[in-house]
Amino acid sequence: MSVVKLLLSYLLFKEAHALSGNFWHITDLHWDDTFNLSDDPELVCNSSGRRPATNAGKYGDYVCDSPLHLIISSVNAMKDILPDPDFIVWTGDNTPHVPDKDMGEERVLYIMSNLTHIIKQVFPHTKVYTALGNHDYHQKNQLPTFTNNIYNQTAEMWKDWLDPESQETFRKGGFYTEKLLSRTGFRMLVLNTNLYYDQNRETLGMDDPAGQLQWADRVLTEAANNKEKVYIIGHVPPGFFEKKRSKPWFRSEFNKEYLDLIQRHHSVILGQFFGHHHTDSFRMFYSSEEPRSPISAMFLSPGVTPWKTTLPGVEDGANNPGIRVFEYDTETLLVKDVVTYYLNLTRANGARGRWEKEYRLTESFRVPDASPASMHQVLERIANSQCHLQKYYEFNSVSYDLTECDSDCRIDHVCAAREVDFEKYNNCLKAEGSAAIHGCGLLPLISVAVSLVLASR
Ligand SMILES: [Zn+2]
Ligand SMILES: [Zn+2]
Repeated sequence: MSVVKLLLSYLLFKEAHALSGNFWHITDLHWDDTFNLSDDPELVCNSSGRRPATNAGKYGDYVCDSPLHLIISSVNAMKDILPDPDFIVWTGDNTPHVPDKDMGEERVLYIMSNLTHIIKQVFPHTKVYTALGNHDYHQKNQLPTFTNNIYNQTAEMWKDWLDPESQETFRKGGFYTEKLLSRTGFRMLVLNTNLYYDQNRETLGMDDPAGQLQWADRVLTEAANNKEKVYIIGHVPPGFFEKKRSKPWFRSEFNKEYLDLIQRHHSVILGQFFGHHHTDSFRMFYSSEEPRSPISAMFLSPGVTPWKTTLPGVEDGANNPGIRVFEYDTETLLVKDVVTYYLNLTRANGARGRWEKEYRLTESFRVPDASPASMHQVLERIANSQCHLQKYYEFNSVSYDLTECDSDCRIDHVCAAREVDFEKYNNCLKAEGSAAIHGCGLLPLISVAVSLVLASR
């Protein structure tokens, strides 16, 4: 009997492990190649825009984009922590936050090819899926709907990572799709959502820039016909920035189109992975019909750059450098867990720093996995308990901003995560303004009291 039991548990163990895969997600590396440890704090890096970099060290400063040392350290940390991922997702924004007059096409390409080289050197045999960010173009944000030198050169740079068909669509519009790891039944869809960014003058007045929406609709329809499961990656996300009230990125018509696309095809979409915020957050997608049910989750991964945003209205919007592992079911593509690693920049510059685990989603928020239903649960916990809200808020800046998330802060974060739709977001702001929330101490205290009573019986 015990032999049978042993065999059974071995088989169960083997199955559980065979179904589990993992991949890295890195985003917003923003290499500032002007970074130097100057004696004049205003001259440490161009990306500070003359804000003094008073705590600069070899890993950088919170008002600067990444020095090369930080970038190399982050890629080496990936290799140390998880040397053999199934694949890597890299969602763009590689150049520094500097005025267009200081960039130019050559410098954009120089930076992108250097970063590509670093990743290739450390992970020579790993498939990388790459999306363009709004900073991966000159002039910034102006990614066009037709073939151009930057799309062509990047397609060339990334040719080892792109199927021939992917190369073709990438050269035309900066997007592509291919079978995930060449496996039947699994697909990666890489979008160029910079075409929907409201700062992109190239796409002003267009219905469907580069025909990408129609193309994506066709890809997802075919995926359903072929019984495929799909991951979507991109850079600029739809919906609102959680650190600034009523700040969306997409033009309103594109925001609606994107949401429609997900609602139409959610049954084949198993995850969406985006960047651009530099913060750690997520977006929920619900069914259009009542009662609304969670149909998809978009994970916004933190950036490698610690750069403090200059967006007016955001107070102290810096972050610690973050990188992230997704654990997933290799048979269903269900996202099982999310593990974020980070570098405390202050400690690292003081020579005591190293990359360490920040948190594991299922542990910190007590959910079984990172499915849409579980992420809905996470959101409801954040919305209704000060404890969870505060924990989420500290993770949001990768443990940089440890101040209290007050009631306005709660509304901004909860509504941004809950509602991608513009109108529903506005309604959420109104409704949440009058909502009550549990304090932090009460519930845990009650549960301790109950368990003590039970234990004493
Ligand atoms: Zn960025
Ligand atoms: Zn961006």
